[in-house]
Amino acid sequence: MVRVASIHQAATVVRFASHHEIPFTTRGGGYSTSGASITYGGIVLDLSKLRAVHVFPDSQTVTVEGGAVWADVDVAAAQHQLIVVGSTLNQIGVAGATLGGGYGWLTGQYGLVIDNLLWAKMILADGSIVTASETAHRDLFWGVRGAGQCFGVAVELGFRAHRQENHVFAGTLCFSPDKLPQIVAFANHFETVTDGKQGFWFGFTMQDSMAQCSILVVLFYNGSESEARQFFSPVLSLEPAMDRTQMLPYDGLNEILNTTDVTTRRDRLSKIDITYPDKSVGFRKSLRGSNITLPLDVDFVRLIYDEFNAVLTDHPQARDSRILFELLPNRQITKVANSATAFASRGPYYNVSSLFEWTEAHLDNEIRSLQQSLMDRIGRCAGITRQPGYNPSTHGTGLYANYAGRDVPVGEIFGDNLSRLRRLKEKYDAHNIFRKWHNLNKHDPPA
Ligand SMILES: Cc1cc2nc3c(=O)[nH]c(=O)nc-3n(C[C@H](O)[C@H](O)[C@H](O)COP(=O)(O)OP(=O)(O)OC[C@H]3O[C@@H](n4cnc5c(N)ncnc54)[C@H](O)[C@@H]3O)c2cc1C
Repeated sequence: MVRVASIHQAATVVRFASHHEIPFTTRGGGYSTSGASITYGGIVLDLSKLRAVHVFPDSQTVTVEGGAVWADVDVAAAQHQLIVVGSTLNQIGVAGATLGGGYGWLTGQYGLVIDNLLWAKMILADGSIVTASETAHRDLFWGVRGAGQCFGVAVELGFRAHRQENHVFAGTLCFSPDKLPQIVAFANHFETVTDGKQGFWFGFTMQDSMAQCSILVVLFYNGSESEARQFFSPVLSLEPAMDRTQMLPYDGLNEILNTTDVTTRRDRLSKIDITYPDKSVGFRKSLRGSNITLPLDVDFVRLIYDEFNAVLTDHPQARDSRILFELLPNRQITKVANSATAFASRGPYYNVSSLFEWTEAHLDNEIRSLQQSLMDRIGRCAGITRQPGYNPSTHGTGLYANYAGRDVPVGEIFGDNLSRLRRLKEKYDAHNIFRKWHNLNKHDPPA
């Protein structure tokens, strides 16, 4: 692992790995769960020392180094009453999230993270450094927005920022499972009432002292508390078992879902008799995505609840896992054509994410396959492809690359954009050294 202190050192590492054909990958925030930012017997370029953020209030732009996490950006921009569309978890790497597309609470107002990306300074496979934008290396800029990890190392990114003077209303709530019909009813209603300034997520997770899963709800409203409470009144009036909603400054918002400290969670889990093969390592994790369209059938959602609840009950060490139906208004996303950037999942649907966490290696296959079958079922029964005549290749693949597992065929993620991506790959990375994220050239061995 090479922890570099400058962009030029990073370029030297890329050139060296390329020249000697050494398996190579980049580590940003380290949030990948598919091993995309580690390699065995190869070189990991660690960017964690390159986290500078510069805010330019006059032009409302922000430049961010390639190893920064969203907390760095949120805090720096807030000092000038500015915001940048970024992830809902502020520990995630800015570059990792951005290059794959990027969703955040502000997506309903301002689109995806890539829709606010002005330029990207990239180290290419030969170690050269170029800046891709709408005016220079336009073909690369097309590829960087949705599949950037396949083309180089982003060492600096330029973003459009937006004015944000007010605090926002946000937080998590927990409900008992009998409230599912009302929660699903609100989700089905959400699309018709949102003006883009809201987000409504719901899903399932197991609370500490509970023997069964609860319904986790996450609310976001960019406006006053009274407006927010009025908007979400059908949910807030359901007598939540836990309510952590409040008014927050924007730079505190993306902390509300941060993973709790691993040691605390381990102490907690040890009380329910979980053994740890190696106390120095964290949890085993797997993130997978799918999509849903509205309206949702409450009986189907209950079925998913039952199935998920059974997995967690049968595997107590996986009780920190969660599944989330992520309703972020999609009008701004679908304004841009799927062919306009490499990102190919713009359509009239919403992401579903599942994050499974467990501790023992012997359960890897079992838990991963339970997760996959759950997510496949959601896509098949409630997703966009169930609609007659829908063409995922051109109208949105329904699969966010940063949520897709590593073994998902690239055609399912990039649809009709795949052939153009492969041509770009020939031009910018003919030897496919950047292949640890999604491998665009399936014939090459894994790095
Ligand atoms: C709990 C959780 C919550 C999430 N929430 C969101 C969310 O709200 N919104 C969202 O859009 N996504 C979300 N994601 C997905 C997240 O965007 C991806 O996992 C992303 O790839 C993480 O980036 P990272 O830099 O933290 O991870 P890493 O593991 O460091 O990197 C991920 C991939 O990006 C590559 N990479 C990282 N930095 C660079 C760089 N500077 N240049 C080139 N390649 C680079 C790595 O090589 C690797 O292939 C979430 C993921 C998790 C696990």
